[in-house]
Amino acid sequence: MPITKAEAARLARRTGMNEADFAVVNDGVLTLLNNAETRACVFLLTDSANANAEGLCSVYEIRPKGCQTYPYVLNDHDQAVLDEGCPHRAQFPPPPEGTDAVLLNLEERIVREGSAD
Ligand code: SF4
Repeated sequence: MPITKAEAARLARRTGMNEADFAVVNDGVLTLLNNAETRACVFLLTDSANANAEGLCSVYEIRPKGCQTYPYVLNDHDQAVLDEGCPHRAQFPPPPEGTDAVLLNLEERIVREGSAD
């Protein structure tokens, strides 16, 4: 999950973790790390390596914007769609009006931050 620098700083401040313990730069984009054992986000409380297993977000109240808007993602035409990779997408309604703009703004911020490094 791509995150902004401000989100990383907030996660570090609120969890007491070093940023390097939960995020990495991938192709210039700051991204949440996966736990090597569970193969899920380091903040997901689960003891299963099954990608569809139940889990609880340990930073739910301060989770990044991309987590808040998931499973809505942008397609190649910059339209908000349900992520094909989400196993629970059938339980969600179509993207609410305005989701495209929210995701485009977020993407722009993340890409701008990445290119500034
Ligand atoms: S919602 Fe929580 S557990 Fe899921 S990717 Fe975001 S930070 Fe990680």
